[in-house]
Amino acid sequence: MTCLECNKTLDYLRHKNSMDLLGVELCEQHQTRMVKLIRTNETPVEAVQLYYGLKEAGVKGMLEWWDGKKSVDIAISRVKLNIEIDAEYHMLTHEQAINDLERTMHSFKNGFTTIRIPHVLIKNYLKETVNNILGIMEGLKANIKVI
Ligand SMILES: [Zn+2]
Repeated sequence: MTCLECNKTLDYLRHKNSMDLLGVELCEQHQTRMVKLIRTNETPVEAVQLYYGLKEAGVKGMLEWWDGKKSVDIAISRVKLNIEIDAEYHMLTHEQAINDLERTMHSFKNGFTTIRIPHVLIKNYLKETVNNILGIMEGLKANIKVI
């Protein structure tokens, strides 16, 4: 049980507290920082879990990356990939849907691909989700080379 950011050893309570709150292992300092980021940006905890899942797989993403117009849940700038977590997938209104589509359109114009991942997928299939993102990154890398 060590902090995913600084490798500091976590005691039982700290570990439990962090897992209950965020679902990832963070020390007090990094947990506080993460909670602040989440509150500021209304980041779904699943984005945090996916961020660390990707990190474990060797992918350096950016959490709540500001692209000039909006904050992206996770951006992997190396392959120009934006990942958005759909927190309330089943409650999507048509206004939200058209906003999402417009955001995706703007990202494409900037050369970024946007994928949307339902939060339940991260809860239940984190490994598979990470593996699929790795595959998408491979594909994007290949396309960038062709261009
Ligand atoms: Zn730490």
